[in-house]
Amino acid sequence: MAWYPGAEKLELQPESDDQPAIVPTQVIFHSIAAPWAPRRIYEYWRDSTNLESHFGVGYDGSVGQFIGTETRADANMGANRRADGTGAVSVESASNDQNTDPWTDAQVAALVALGVWLHGRHGIPVRACRSANDPGFGFHRLFPEWSDGGTSCPGDARVRQFYDIVLPGIAAAAGGGPLPPPPRSDTAPVRRRVTINGLEYGYGAHGPQVREVGEALVAAGHGAHYTTGPDEDWRDADTLNYQEYQRSLGYSGSDADGVPGEQSLRRLLGRLPSPRRVSLAHVVAAARTDPGAEQGHQTYGGEVRIVEQALVDEGFLEQRWVDGSLGSTTVQAYAAFQRSLGYAGSDANGIPGQRSLRELGQRRGFDVTD
Ligand SMILES: [Zn+2]
Repeated sequence: MAWYPGAEKLELQPESDDQPAIVPTQVIFHSIAAPWAPRRIYEYWRDSTNLESHFGVGYDGSVGQFIGTETRADANMGANRRADGTGAVSVESASNDQNTDPWTDAQVAALVALGVWLHGRHGIPVRACRSANDPGFGFHRLFPEWSDGGTSCPGDARVRQFYDIVLPGIAAAAGGGPLPPPPRSDTAPVRRRVTINGLEYGYGAHGPQVREVGEALVAAGHGAHYTTGPDEDWRDADTLNYQEYQRSLGYSGSDADGVPGEQSLRRLLGRLPSPRRVSLAHVVAAARTDPGAEQGHQTYGGEVRIVEQALVDEGFLEQRWVDGSLGSTTVQAYAAFQRSLGYAGSDANGIPGQRSLRELGQRRGFDVTD
């Protein structure tokens, strides 16, 4: 029986005496889909359901404890108590009715302090659980074994806070150091490529869509496996980061193998990227118009921008000239690119031709139309 000194003790009976002992090895965070203070959470467990959590955290950061941490509480299905006697400590928290709001600053501080105590008292390692039975910290929807057929608890905003603030906060307070990167999984990352909406993803895929996914993973708090990148080459680190993101959505098994599917990709980016297209006729028109027009004049600026960025990536243009205007600097850069392909004379005049533009597109990930 362990009771957290930072909580108001609101002991639930008969559960506290009747339910079997556990060795706590995990901490699982929840949102209760109601704006309740700890005492109201206690009353709900007492009066309305057979379920209960160990802890409840109000919007103001106040904490109640309903069951000792070495007694089973029933909030996480398969993680409540396993056959080997280990189990999870469950932490409910006040939220809006849809589980969509972030934890308040006071809640974050309370969760961090509670996490530090659980780490010190029970030796629970400060890391995200890598599997349903793995010791560590998690949130309800992290693994399907922890709920009855899946759950949205505790909502996207709080999942992000878990990775961005709560877990790093516990690590900093408990060990004084930064959070170590998640350990490599036991099995090698899946090396499989898929085509979604005409673009490739997965190990070996190449192109701006790969960079976009990597940057979105970092922004969502799932960038821990990158030692280089994210960039336009899909490596094992991209797969491992994408796998963590899939798990955060509640996917498991082959649905969480780190290779994007249409649904998870759309959720990550808010849209499905499509292949980039550049019309040769449009770019030629721009190359004939823009240099003679006023500075910065744009003809088909979107397509020109794609060509300019490709010239930058190939080392023929400086980034500051990527402006959608195919002016004389860009024409000179394109001429240099043509010469690098072995063209000379009027074939290297800086006006894009069919073959050179296709070559550039193949290298830098855009399709060329007439
Ligand atoms: Zn929950």
